[in-house]
Amino acid sequence: MQLVFATNNLNKIKEVQALMPQHIKLLSLKDIGCFEDLPETQNSIKGNAIQKAEFIKNHYGYDCFADDTGLEVDALNGEPGIYSARYAGEQRNANDNMNTLLSALKDNPNRKAHFKTVIALEINNQQQVFTGICEGEITNSKQGENGFGYDPIFKPNGYQKTFAEMDLNLKNSIGHRGKAVSQLIAFLNS
Ligand code: IMP
Repeated sequence: MQLVFATNNLNKIKEVQALMPQHIKLLSLKDIGCFEDLPETQNSIKGNAIQKAEFIKNHYGYDCFADDTGLEVDALNGEPGIYSARYAGEQRNANDNMNTLLSALKDNPNRKAHFKTVIALEINNQQQVFTGICEGEITNSKQGENGFGYDPIFKPNGYQKTFAEMDLNLKNSIGHRGKAVSQLIAFLNS
């Protein structure tokens, strides 16, 4: 089976590819000749995932899935949430975003946060949505070099390491995206 993963984020492709069984071959946006930015103008993570998947289905005709992810911090009333990519500005820079978040939290003792991934699947003219959540906390400083985005400042519950200090397989086995992808695979295999 061939399925388009509607993202330009190479880190997401790496994580999802590692979880996919051999019989599901992922195509990238480049593979289908799509070089444009996908629209993400909805006011929820779920809305943005659906918007990206529908865009590819409607404009390129491929069965596909899209992932939208946000980091929701309790003490900031769920921010940055849908603004996670642009939290520090339109440059969408991970380091700037982490600095902005650490400054917003200052020395607030409530560091609780979670990542939420919503995957929207468009297949055989049907839509399915899968959600994965990983609870944890925001550290006081950046730790680790692996992963991407906010990984250096997010420590999942039950672990003494940030996502950026874990290898990809461990992050996948406990993380938000891994949980959503497991549901996607179960649906595709059903
Ligand atoms: P989007 O889903 O590509 O819109 O991502 C929103 C923001 O969250 C971007 O700044 C990403 O770098 C960040 N992000 C998405 N997934 C992860 C993750 O698994 N770990 C850390 N940051 C992430």
